[in-house]
This record gives sequence, C-alpha cells and structure tokens, in this order.
Amino acid sequence: MKQLSRPEHDPLEVFLRCVAEVTNEAERKVYVDNTNEIVQSVIDFEGATAATNWHTLPRVGRGHPEVIVRGTLTKGALVDLYGKYLVGGSEARELYDSLLVSSDGKCPFCGGIGQVHTLDHYLPKSNFPVYSVHPDNLVPCCRDCNSGKMNAFATTQGEQSLHPYLDAPKFFSERWVVATVCRTDPITVEFSCSPPEGWPDVDKLRAKSHFDQYQLARRYSIQAGAELARVIDLRKKSLKVLEPMQFAAYLAENAQTDAYDLNGWNRTMYWALQRSLWFCVADLNEPATYLPLGEVA
Ligand SMILES: [Zn+2]
Repeated sequence: MKQLSRPEHDPLEVFLRCVAEVTNEAERKVYVDNTNEIVQSVIDFEGATAATNWHTLPRVGRGHPEVIVRGTLTKGALVDLYGKYLVGGSEARELYDSLLVSSDGKCPFCGGIGQVHTLDHYLPKSNFPVYSVHPDNLVPCCRDCNSGKMNAFATTQGEQSLHPYLDAPKFFSERWVVATVCRTDPITVEFSCSPPEGWPDVDKLRAKSHFDQYQLARRYSIQAGAELARVIDLRKKSLKVLEPMQFAAYLAENAQTDAYDLNGWNRTMYWALQRSLWFCVADLNEPATYLPLGEVA
C-alpha cells in the first residue's frame, strides 16, 4: 500500500483532450455539448473525496451501452472516452502514459508485489462511466490486483478499498498489517489485518476490505515463503556466529528499511521475525528445538 501523489491533470482538461481525438464531428459535438455535465460530475467527485464516500456516487448496471448516463451522454460514449481516445488516442495517450509511470513501476495496491501493468479504475468504468477518464480515478496497478478486483464496487463506506491518491496518510504511514511466525516445519509466516485501536471503525473496516479484496494474506505469504527460506539459510550459515540478540537486531534492521512499504509483505515479515523470540534463539538446524511438543517427527 503505497501512497501516490494526486495527479496534477485537471479532470475537465483530460476530458477535452480525449474529445479532441474524436474524428466524427457529430459524435464530438455530443461530448462538447455535455461539457457542463462533466463539470458537475467532477464537482460531485470532489464532494465524495472530501467525505471519502465515493460509493455514493451515481452508478449504472453492467452492460447496456445505450443507456443515458448524464445529459445526452450514453454509457457507451463515456466508456469509449477511455478505450478509444485516452488509451487509443495519440495526444491523449500521453496522459495515460504519464499516469502509468507515476508509481515507479510498483503497484500501490499490493505494496509492490506486482509490477505496474495497466491503469485501474478505482470506480469501475462499467458502473461509473462518467469517471472513465477522471485522472483521480485512474491508478497504476499490477495485473493481479486489476484482475482480482473483477469490477467489484463498494456499496458501503467500509467496503471501499484504499485509494492511493486520495486516502489519509495514516493508511500508508501507520502499521495495520501484522504477521505471525508459525512453529511449523517448514516455518511459515501468516499475515493478517490489525489496524490501530484508535482508528475510527470505518477506517478499520476499509483497511480490512483492502486486505481481503486484494487477497493480501495469501499473496503476502507466498512472497514471504521464498524470502524466509533465504533468511533461514543465512542463519544456518553466515549468520550462525550471531548471538540471538544480534540476529534479532539484523532482522529489525530489515524491518525498518524505507525501501519497502511499511505494510508490505517484506517489512511486515521482518517485523514479525524480530519479535519472535523463539525464532531468534532457535537452532534452525534442529526443528526439535522449536517445534511444539508432539509435532516433532
Ligand atoms: Zn498489485
């Protein structure tokens, strides 16, 4: 979960740049005639951002490109703004590309597990077509986060996943993902969502929705598996000389690096390892010394 700077592009300007790509004059006129409708929809979005209740914005059902969404604009025409003119246009495409690179290649939704592959519509364009090219609604995203979402949209405030551009800094600077190191053979790490006690209930719900929606428990533990095997291997070899407290300090150092997201799998795994006294003192060559009684083969 990485916070990104809000795009500097003006939403109306992006709309007009996409419209400028429309070659059919009659089609272009429909867009231009509805400019005020777009202005109003941008104002509505601002209000929803101030209240973090984007789920209350008017939405339409799946399919039916002919349905009128705003003014005389159909859903199909609004969705086309994205596919045909922002992605498929020439000058407007520059805007698409500039948004795509704004995350340094790392997906902000999963804390950088995946590489940025596409722009994700925070509010799906099939349900919120009027925001198909609103820059605040276009977030760089990896393939897994994008496809895992399956066009889902929130129906309550608590169901809304985190918005990398628009959400409060605390979601990105305070720990709300934790992990437990399991005394199993092999040793595993289990991740869970545990927001600070003092957070309002709706924020706790939103962190949990984000964690579940992007399947972070499963995806984090897969990533951690390979890294943990490496740490264990190091502890058996070059780090063997370290006293338990020195080994804990080594792990803590990795838990504090700013190179990774605070709530990403990497830092969270090291955070959990350095807190696990049994792990720091264990002889990792001898599972019998750390496996619970009765589980030793
Ligand atoms: Zn991702």
